[in-house]
Amino acid sequence: MDFELTEEQRMLKDMAYKFAQAEFPDVSHECDEHEKYTPEIRKKAAENGLVGAWVPEEYGGAGVGILGNAMVTEELSRVDAGIGLNIVAATFGSEAINDYGTEEQKKEYLTPVCRGEQVSAGAFTEPNAGTDVAGYQTRAVKDGSDYVINGNKMFITNGTVCDFMVVQAITNPENKKHASFSMIVVPADAKGVTRTKIHGKLGIRASDTAEIALEDVRVPQENLVGKEGRGFYQLMHFFDTTRVMVAGQAVGISQGCLDTVIKYAKERTAFGAPIGSFQLTQAKLTEMAVRIEALRNMVYKAGWLIDEGRPDYHLAAMAKYYGGQTAVYCANAAVEIHGGYGYIDEYDVQKWYRDAKILELYEGTKEAEIMTIGRVLMSR
Ligand SMILES: Cc1cc2nc3c(=O)[nH]c(=O)nc-3n(C[C@H](O)[C@H](O)[C@H](O)COP(=O)(O)OP(=O)(O)OC[C@H]3O[C@@H](n4cnc5c(N)ncnc54)[C@H](O)[C@@H]3O)c2cc1C
Repeated sequence: MDFELTEEQRMLKDMAYKFAQAEFPDVSHECDEHEKYTPEIRKKAAENGLVGAWVPEEYGGAGVGILGNAMVTEELSRVDAGIGLNIVAATFGSEAINDYGTEEQKKEYLTPVCRGEQVSAGAFTEPNAGTDVAGYQTRAVKDGSDYVINGNKMFITNGTVCDFMVVQAITNPENKKHASFSMIVVPADAKGVTRTKIHGKLGIRASDTAEIALEDVRVPQENLVGKEGRGFYQLMHFFDTTRVMVAGQAVGISQGCLDTVIKYAKERTAFGAPIGSFQLTQAKLTEMAVRIEALRNMVYKAGWLIDEGRPDYHLAAMAKYYGGQTAVYCANAAVEIHGGYGYIDEYDVQKWYRDAKILELYEGTKEAEIMTIGRVLMSR
């Protein structure tokens, strides 16, 4: 067993962290306060190979795999999780195109996103069905050589800034529930698409989130991704990959909190001594460090297994579940160690506290992960 990062991985991590340190801090507060998306930073990141880092080189990516992408996500999120998400989730939804799309689709959709020219979205969740993935109601009906799509999608990352989205819709209602869905690419500017930005998020406020209405949206049948009736199963496989990315965000937020509190605990004094000299403070730092170490190993292993062609959805769900818990724990501890200063927006830790919570909600709530993990355990 080799735990050593390769020279390439070390350089990638280092480059991603330096990029984030150079680009994020100046705009971080403004983006958070005013819910500002950051297209210029995303484009610059693309020039540095950080957008679609997981995408194979022949389609314009850096070809560093899911493990490398988790490392990039970690290092960007270590500085600002919202702006980092604008970079690593610029390809969101396109994982399905890479796994199931035709050669033409891969070239048409993946390459411009990696170049920073376009943005992708994955439009799955609906107003009345999130966790219940088989409960989506959006319909795509064949008409001549087209699909005509009707339905509503909710909480879609990149919703108002994307160029295209991979939409989950019922194409075969005559089949059993799980076999009734398909994935279809819908251009964001197609007639009948209405995109409405959702305001007032608790955290990751630099990320764009939208509600999307699809009303008689007509797309050619060649926009089908993979096979008709396989959409549900394709989406389950999609989550194996994207949960590793989200768990990478968790490592980054947690590490960012630890970096910050160690510095603060050395500077801040109480009772004539640095607060870091108190064992109760050290206990919190220790708990953070131990959890981060365990999480990072879990995330890297889950990513490595996918790159080896042996995806382990049990481990991906564990990494995502433990990632959410770890980030929330670390952000909470960071606020506490900052005392009253942790509660005001002059310090980053309150933003991490707000950003961290999303990791227990999207890409499967923590309860959904528990159900997945529990099901596997009981099937043994
Ligand atoms: C900022 C943000 C970005 C997002 N980005 C995207 C995106 O890009 N694309 C996309 O498709 N979606 C996206 N989502 C949606 C996200 O994945 C869903 O919100 C999430 O899956 C939960 O679905 P829901 O909100 O409908 O909650 P519900 O499914 O209604 O769940 C509500 C509560 O009930 C619990 N629950 C549900 N079923 C069970 C059960 N069987 N047993 C026990 N508890 C249960 C849940 O765990 C949760 O606590 C995003 C959400 C947010 C907030």
